[in-house]
Amino acid sequence: MIKIAFFDTKEYDREMFDEYNKKYNYEITYYKTKLNEETAPLASGYDVVCIFVNDNANEAVLKKLKKMGVKLLALRCAGFNNVEIAKCPKGLTVARVPAYSPYAVAEHTAGLLLALNRKVYKSYQRTKKYNFSLDGLLGFDINGKTVGVIGTGKIGKIFIKIMRGFGANVIAYDVYKDIDAAKELGYKYVDLNKLYKESDIISLHCPLTDENHNLINEESISKMKKGVIILNTSRGKLINSKDLVKCLEEGRIGGVGLDVFEDEEEYFLNDMSNSYIRDVELSLLLSMPNVVITAHQAFFTKEALEKIVSTTYENIDNFFTNGKCENEVK
Ligand code: NAD
Repeated sequence: MIKIAFFDTKEYDREMFDEYNKKYNYEITYYKTKLNEETAPLASGYDVVCIFVNDNANEAVLKKLKKMGVKLLALRCAGFNNVEIAKCPKGLTVARVPAYSPYAVAEHTAGLLLALNRKVYKSYQRTKKYNFSLDGLLGFDINGKTVGVIGTGKIGKIFIKIMRGFGANVIAYDVYKDIDAAKELGYKYVDLNKLYKESDIISLHCPLTDENHNLINEESISKMKKGVIILNTSRGKLINSKDLVKCLEEGRIGGVGLDVFEDEEEYFLNDMSNSYIRDVELSLLLSMPNVVITAHQAFFTKEALEKIVSTTYENIDNFFTNGKCENEVK
């Protein structure tokens, strides 16, 4: 019987993985704790370790897993920046779910933009208290504005389509240009400096790599329009949060919508309501009226969760049936 240890699981993961496991009958243990050097020994005796976005599979963890006999590290997410893949020992395969619902993330990004621009979160709180005034709720039309999209992969393209639907002009930057898509969807590739200079709204849809770590910092923000709206539903470390706070305080940024945060691991996906926030930048951002933060929920739709669960099991099944798996990360 194939044994799987799941790390960083929530009730909704356990429910869906149990439901789909009726087809496979794997022996499953769910841990609430995240995978890291300290918790890695919990994987002893398991064939598969299944992790999510905030588990840490660095070189030391990968080596420990290999030594304990783990054969497959199955990521139940697309991004693999939390796995030190170049240091992965031979004989330990890493697989991921390359796409679950790009619509979920793109739609959530549009939701963050509307919440910010039209101050939906403020009106919601007001009308609940029978305050029907419009003071402070003035927004702007997205129609006719310029949206800059960094990363035109699966999610970026859907976000572009949504923005084009609003009547926005879209300019984009990607290390690989998809000229056909640009023609079809009606957007233009530009270099980063031009994107910073011309965009009213900037949205990040690229993976986190060594090259783009802290891409958005004081220097890049200084090239942007005053009052720009910045959206990040990709990875927190794409933005230097100290610089972001500084530029918000100085009024250089109009609004920020975040589904990810530079040091989110300790906070996001956890109920911290009986605790306090020690992270100074996160505290400050949460206190700002022109910042809307959601806690890594952009992927969280029924369709995406079903796809995550079914693809994770398919990866495991492929690996143990055929000795390899299509979604291997190399
Ligand atoms: P994708 O692989 O389809 O597209 C990524 C695009 O980014 C590619 O076109 C690639 O060429 C481009 N790119 C790579 N490096 C770049 C760089 N330095 N500058 C500009 N572009 C660059 O990926 P996707 O499915 O569209 O997902 C994008 C990102 O969204 C993921 O990497 C992940 O970090 C994030 N994501 C977040 C959530 C969430 O719940 N918040 C869920 C899924 C994915």
